Amino acid sequence: MELKLYDTYTRSIRTFEPINPPIEGCSATVGMYTCGPTVYDYAHIGNLRTYIFEDILRRVLSINGYEVKHVMNITDVGHLVSDADTGEDKMEKCARRTGKSAWELAEYYTQAFKNDLQLLNILEPVIWCKATDHIEDQIEVIKCIEEKGFTYRTSDGIYFDTSKLPDYGYLARLDVEGLQAGTRIDMGEKRHITDFALWKFSPPDQKRQMEWNSPWGIGFPGWHIECSAMSAKYLGRFFDIHCGGEDHIPIHHPNEIAQTEACYGTRLANFWMHGYFLQAGDEKMSKSAGHFLRLRDLIEKGYDPLAYRFFCFSALYRAKLTFSWEGMESSQKALDRLRLIVYELGDPGEVDEWYKNQFIEYVNDDLNIPRAIALTWEMIKSDLISSAKKATILYFDKVLGLRLNEWKPKEEIIPEEVQKLIELRQKARTEKRWNDADMLRNQISTLGYEIEDTPQGSRVKKKKE
Ligand code: AMP
Ligand code: ZN
Repeated sequence: MELKLYDTYTRSIRTFEPINPPIEGCSATVGMYTCGPTVYDYAHIGNLRTYIFEDILRRVLSINGYEVKHVMNITDVGHLVSDADTGEDKMEKCARRTGKSAWELAEYYTQAFKNDLQLLNILEPVIWCKATDHIEDQIEVIKCIEEKGFTYRTSDGIYFDTSKLPDYGYLARLDVEGLQAGTRIDMGEKRHITDFALWKFSPPDQKRQMEWNSPWGIGFPGWHIECSAMSAKYLGRFFDIHCGGEDHIPIHHPNEIAQTEACYGTRLANFWMHGYFLQAGDEKMSKSAGHFLRLRDLIEKGYDPLAYRFFCFSALYRAKLTFSWEGMESSQKALDRLRLIVYELGDPGEVDEWYKNQFIEYVNDDLNIPRAIALTWEMIKSDLISSAKKATILYFDKVLGLRLNEWKPKEEIIPEEVQKLIELRQKARTEKRWNDADMLRNQISTLGYEIEDTPQGSRVKKKKE
């Protein structure tokens, strides 16, 4: 079945074909690069929505028979407070504020991020790469860009001259001339509004915690260069899919493309895919705007992290999604219901081929998860036998990633008195003394417990108040 994905570069849905055909006897390997977090703070649930979308993409590639070589970077240096290459480095600013070293902060927030991914059942990338572990690689790419004549020097760094690249900004369909004409902000020594730093010098009067020697002077790499350098190192100069959030369309990704085109003369990636924002009210959820929630905030309110994953399934990845507590509440309830149903389906049998194919058709239609979820409920209500339902839903869960097979109802602590009545009722049922069994059920009920008879046996739970 064809896998169709929306490619931001061409603004069209295209059939996905891997760049490298499979080697005999093996599945084709797909290279996927996802821009990772800047580790100066916890991720917020908006960031996490993007990683959930990328996880779904990866899982869909897998069920289509591809081996996915997934690379994610960790930005631990060079991301300045403003995307226009001005202001302080986010890491150094946070270090100054907290009194911790930039290295300690990076380590701490990287772990916190990995922990969030784990809680959301997001598969770990095959390769993690930190910007600070790849300074030499970045210097090499900058040298290459310089040799090809795309750079100039200012008093604070080495810049990429975007006017030298005729199709600069194509990904974002940037009107570069219009932008230049309409510029109101002070560009400093930058020649064009869209030019960006490849290497920044450490301020002359200040020793930075993170700084390195380079052919141009002591300093640190610009934010964009790490992705061109590390993606080429681990996936090759032209690879299959590059992803990120929609805010990367106007600046970060055009700059990555420019660097790679200037240095290697290649297009960087065959597909460009972007996850749309999680909104807080009418605005994008963001750290800088100050209104954001972390996964921890949801957990503290009693929500399961996977209920947030489920909440993200309520919209297409290419549509904005507004966060609401009501939405979280109904996602938690729906997930609880689904878990219980799946549990009670008993042992899995054969996967139902019709539902499986239907599911693949939906997820292969540019990751249409809302339709796949609707299909899941339909399948549950269908007249398939339980074992087929169970096997089919566990197949769906390879993509949904809700850990449906791991869930078990919580064991309740049942008072001894009730326990005795349950045993007596069980005995009565085995001996087919149905009246006695019913009487015992009533007695159990007056003690505040109710019995549910399931294919796995009777289950007792405290009655809701
Ligand atoms: P950052 O740590 O700021 O570099 O962002 C990490 C990832 O989250 C990037 O791919 C961003 O595009 C993405 N992102 C940032 N804010 C949001 C949001 N409100 N909704 C969805 N994704 C976001
Ligand atoms: Zn990137």
